[in-house]
Amino acid sequence: MVEIKKLLIDGAWMDGEPGVQRLVSTNPATGAVNHEVAAAGAQFAAAAVASAHKACRQPGWRDMLPADRARILYRIAEGIESHSEEMSRLQMLENGKVWKECVAQVRSAAATFRYYAGVCETLGSEVTPARGNYLSMAVYEAYGVVVAITPWNSPMTMEAQKIAPALAAGNAVILKPSEVTPSTGLLLGRIALEAGLPPGILNVLPGWGHEVGAALVAHPQVRLVSFTGGTESGRRIAQVAAAKLMPVALELGGKSPHIVFDDADLDLAVESIAGGIFEGSGQSCVAGSRAFVQRGVYDEVLRQLVARARAIAVNLPDQANAQMGPMASFAHRDKVASMVAEAIAQGATAECGASAPQDAALAAGAFYLPTILTGMRNDDAIAQQEIFGPVLCLMPFDDEADLVEQANASVFGLASGIWTGSYQRAWRVARALEAGTVWINTYKQLSIATPFGGFKDSGIGREKGIQGLRLYQQAKGIFFGM
Ligand code: NAD
Repeated sequence: MVEIKKLLIDGAWMDGEPGVQRLVSTNPATGAVNHEVAAAGAQFAAAAVASAHKACRQPGWRDMLPADRARILYRIAEGIESHSEEMSRLQMLENGKVWKECVAQVRSAAATFRYYAGVCETLGSEVTPARGNYLSMAVYEAYGVVVAITPWNSPMTMEAQKIAPALAAGNAVILKPSEVTPSTGLLLGRIALEAGLPPGILNVLPGWGHEVGAALVAHPQVRLVSFTGGTESGRRIAQVAAAKLMPVALELGGKSPHIVFDDADLDLAVESIAGGIFEGSGQSCVAGSRAFVQRGVYDEVLRQLVARARAIAVNLPDQANAQMGPMASFAHRDKVASMVAEAIAQGATAECGASAPQDAALAAGAFYLPTILTGMRNDDAIAQQEIFGPVLCLMPFDDEADLVEQANASVFGLASGIWTGSYQRAWRVARALEAGTVWINTYKQLSIATPFGGFKDSGIGREKGIQGLRLYQQAKGIFFGM
């Protein structure tokens, strides 16, 4: 018997909405069905909004002192840690991430709740400079009902980085997790109830983006949507939001340049480029998917990178030696494979990979080998489109001006990395790159305390940090006549 997981509205666990197709959670490492998940549609979306709308107006939540809200967030952090095994396992089964990465992400999700508990307790209102005989203040208030929509690549960390600040800010949240990874969000809903969060303050509605997702975004009582996912979905959501005059936070796709100058520490740079693209099977919004290497060291970097890529242990994600698991779904693996095949047909060279592994133990899974492509131009489709897989486009550059022009010639602007021995050059290039994050002599360092978001088609707004809480609040000016 396949388990059927229920969804969460108003503190109650419910079967799926009649007429809406259930989600079938499949293990991408083996093709086996994990479980099925009740799905919501437009009617349940309306019920969840009604529940959230009512719950966030109850004095028990609306007037709760920040220190008491923080106490609930601390308890949620503890709950996440005490369910670490179960949560890590759910993510591994649903998106195929290797075990140690799942465990690290659970730890990170708990830390996010602790961070926002701290921000919640310490971030205050402001007295603004008076320009007359009055006392003026800026206070920050919740929007009310906030919808969080998340993708499948790192569900726990994305969900935590939206839900924790939105709750800290005093909102009620409706989480719409990805159809591929609905279960960690459901577990988080259970943990939040156990931690004392009032019913209706966090509803969890798995389902299809075009059904429950679209219904939530369009609902008039939803006052803010925080979305992480693909650029085209983000654009559609922004269009609906524009008609409602509703603010949105959009964390979207990327095609991030990872740059190596000829004065860099090449060993570290190569290790970083390989990690930047192959960790998580390249299914990371900040994956360094375009590597630009200065011409004098290009051949050496290519040689070292190919050796590293070939040495990566691609294995079942629960195996201790696994460095790379499968792609998150078979459909996605096939899409990545067809993009690579098309690039090769257009003249690119596969230096390694470009196929599924031969290992019989992996034959039933959605695996794809670490792949390095050369011989393309930066304006070729393969170097411009987000692949979201373990595929690196490696290109040479001549000098700093050439590099900056190529790196910025992209619709995306999420992240970037620079390897150089010169801090002056690092500074110049960091300021010239059109990207929300620049890493210098490091890559993929992420911190809940530092703002994160994209330039250009990579998004609108910034999550994380203190701004990450302000995102979920609106400022109100108050004047006391003296
Ligand atoms: P996706 O856009 O297909 O789906 C993301 C979520 O949006 C899912 O929950 C989906 O059901 C929902 N959705 C889709 N259409 C919707 C609509 N019209 N209305 C409301 N909800 C809708 O993305 P995905 O395939 O799940 O994730 C991969 C993408 O996410 C990649 O492009 C990746 O770069 C991006 N991503 C970005 C970041 C970031 O922080 N910038 C992080 C991770 C992933």
